[in-house]
Amino acid sequence: MKNLNTSSLTTDFPFFKAAAVTDRFFKHHELLLFMEKLPAEFDRRIVGYSEENRSISLISWGKGPVKVFLWSQMHGDEATGTMALLDLMNFLQQQSYQEEISYLDSHCTLYLMPMVNPDGAERFSRRNALQIDLNRDFIKTVAKESEVLKKTASQLQPDYGFNLHDQNTLWSVENTNAQLDGPLPAALSLLAPAYDKQISLNNTRTKATQVIAEIYRSLSPLLPGQIGRFDDEFEPRSFGDNFQASGIATILLEAGGYKDDQEKQELRRFYFLAIAMGLQSIATHSFQTIPLKDYFSIPPNTKQIFHILIKDLQINGRTVSIGMNYREYPVLAKKNTERIYFVDDIGDLDLWSGYQIHDSPSLNVLGTPKFEEAADFDLFDGTQLILSFKKGILAV
Ligand SMILES: [Zn+2]
Repeated sequence: MKNLNTSSLTTDFPFFKAAAVTDRFFKHHELLLFMEKLPAEFDRRIVGYSEENRSISLISWGKGPVKVFLWSQMHGDEATGTMALLDLMNFLQQQSYQEEISYLDSHCTLYLMPMVNPDGAERFSRRNALQIDLNRDFIKTVAKESEVLKKTASQLQPDYGFNLHDQNTLWSVENTNAQLDGPLPAALSLLAPAYDKQISLNNTRTKATQVIAEIYRSLSPLLPGQIGRFDDEFEPRSFGDNFQASGIATILLEAGGYKDDQEKQELRRFYFLAIAMGLQSIATHSFQTIPLKDYFSIPPNTKQIFHILIKDLQINGRTVSIGMNYREYPVLAKKNTERIYFVDDIGDLDLWSGYQIHDSPSLNVLGTPKFEEAADFDLFDGTQLILSFKKGILAV
């Protein structure tokens, strides 16, 4: 069979990208419109309801023996996985990839659960309508949405799971490439969640690490220094860790940050590619030839990046750097967020990097940057105003 490759998928992505979704703020009713138009080879059924009575659907596709379960947006403000699942469903209808798609169809059955937390998506909040973090609710299963996800997985007994999330944009990737200039934002992070405190490796978790290593191998040329291995501390209350323990080879995929991509429309393409290459690895069993060390050599996530880094500024007669990050507050009516910038560090930040870096010998500041407070000062390069913050809001 012909293998999928990232370069043709990248070229063709605009043709199958789900056009109805253009930002992170799409809602359950928009998802319903998309799903209602799916052709018959996608079998959709409602498997439960959210706390506010929004339906949660399971879509199955394919006739193969290997069962792969993909679920997204357990955290309502983490929409990239849902976008990528819609893109995947469109891709699976592409005539030009018929050979590759029919191979997948005959080797795998996919089960997709987009938007596990529709009430959170409605508010653009991490938690559900009861303020519960669903991914810390596996054991007690207090929330309806957690129960739906848990019950569905136990009925399906899938061989593989894709647990689709977004991570904070302030994660970076440990810089192991001397040609790169400092740590870069983690565009994607991957993890085979641990199933015990010792972070052991059994057959199930080993398979997940190998699929991840193959995804990394396929995508790292497109995102050099921007794919990380997520922190793998055992979290006994989370779904991924428990699914791994139950024999589902579980792959955690996190969309992080990418320069000038606030709505994650570039990231969504890389995210789709990661899923597509992972599915191919599973369908063809090509992961079986990947050595385990390839997983452990994926550089780990670090926290060495700021949204804005101002280097070597004179404050109180000393030369210091300032690291600033914004917090996002949703403005739902505008399908946007308000960003409030805080001064998160002052001092020697030579090992840090930034989405935006200001570095000039003639930088000077009017007003006083105060640690852990909302930014309220002006930054000049010589006499030219380059940044102006008023109560945390970036005005210029
Ligand atoms: Zn999440």
